Amino acid sequence: MAGSDSSGFPGFGTDTIHVGQDPNQWKSGAVIPPISLSTTFKQTGPGEYPGRGGNPTRDCLEKCFAAVEGGKFALAFSSGLGATMSICHLLKSGDHIVAMDDLYGGTNRYFRRILANMGVETTFADATSIEKFSAAMRPNTKLVWIETPTNPLLRLVDIPAVVAVARKQKDVLVVVDNTFATPYFQRPLDLGADISMSSATKYINGHGDVVMGLTAMNDEALYKRLHFTLYAGGACPSAFDCYLVNRGMKTLHVRMKEHFRNAMAVANHLKTHPRVETVIYPGLPEHPHHELYKRQMKGFSGMVTFKLKGNLENATKFLQTIKVFTLAESLGGFESLVDHPALMTHASVPPEQRKELGIDDTLLRLSVGLEDTKDIIEDLDQALAAAVSLSSFINTL
Ligand SMILES: *Cc1c(COP(=O)(O)O)cnc(C)c1O
Repeated sequence: MAGSDSSGFPGFGTDTIHVGQDPNQWKSGAVIPPISLSTTFKQTGPGEYPGRGGNPTRDCLEKCFAAVEGGKFALAFSSGLGATMSICHLLKSGDHIVAMDDLYGGTNRYFRRILANMGVETTFADATSIEKFSAAMRPNTKLVWIETPTNPLLRLVDIPAVVAVARKQKDVLVVVDNTFATPYFQRPLDLGADISMSSATKYINGHGDVVMGLTAMNDEALYKRLHFTLYAGGACPSAFDCYLVNRGMKTLHVRMKEHFRNAMAVANHLKTHPRVETVIYPGLPEHPHHELYKRQMKGFSGMVTFKLKGNLENATKFLQTIKVFTLAESLGGFESLVDHPALMTHASVPPEQRKELGIDDTLLRLSVGLEDTKDIIEDLDQALAAAVSLSSFINTL
């Protein structure tokens, strides 16, 4: 399949397995980083802290994550939204945000329903158009928040182009939510972003058993400021979760190659399927941003969005019939999941905005997992056959 033999950044697997995890750093020589559950650490004198003052298990994970994002520093948070909140704590009342209009529903909800009440206004703009994005910038814009590929429509934003617009003003932070692509396929810091942020709950942990957020950056002053909002705001992950994410990350490169291969197979299968209206996958040559994809990314994850023919009834029937895929929110684990964005993940996005974006009743978002390709495709076929009667379309022609 086209593109499916592509691999991520060189040295990626070696970094995830070794960086921050040198067995010489603890007395036992343990090859697997120990879980340090202690919530307090002995001081050598009053106010004299051993090490960096963090938790050793979290330190391991942060060092490793910085390396895989190609950054100098990283910070771990209690959730993706905890990371978002802590980044937004760098702002003050009167500041303005420009955010991509097609965003993770929870980020959209946080900007609209929490930050807006605290005097920080957000303009949602279609950052796939640099003109529209530039027009949304204001003199008091202090943060630019983009997601690429977007959720759930998998549109791509040109990161260097957005960074260039932001740099025309002073002190504008550019944050890229890299959750869907993962650092295996896309490195926002290399493309000029200030912070690469991920919900580690998804691909990075990849096993559906941890909620966590991770950020990476190059600027030391920014790292210190964000460390302060983490420390002072309290969105800190547990040592046990840091251990699990570190463990999950060791196979990130292996999993991402397989997610990519399975997703390409699904996208190629659905694109000619008589019961399917459209398929959206950046790896398909017909995707509207495929050229940008080739420039900016080294492949893509298991996220495939499609519209089946018919209406909500057909979509509901499909979701009731599908077996290998589980009807559930979230994404990025080894198991295949299917989401109905309009009724589930994006229900909190105002209906007018959903309509404008094209998040309608027949739009479904797949998180293609690591099951056998043949089983995944056969399952999609049987559910489509049960949900969409071809004759009903022939009759209406
Ligand atoms: C899930 C998700 C988040 C939020 O992360 P949590 O860890 O669930 O808080 C942010 N951005 C994207 C793209 C996500 O998919």
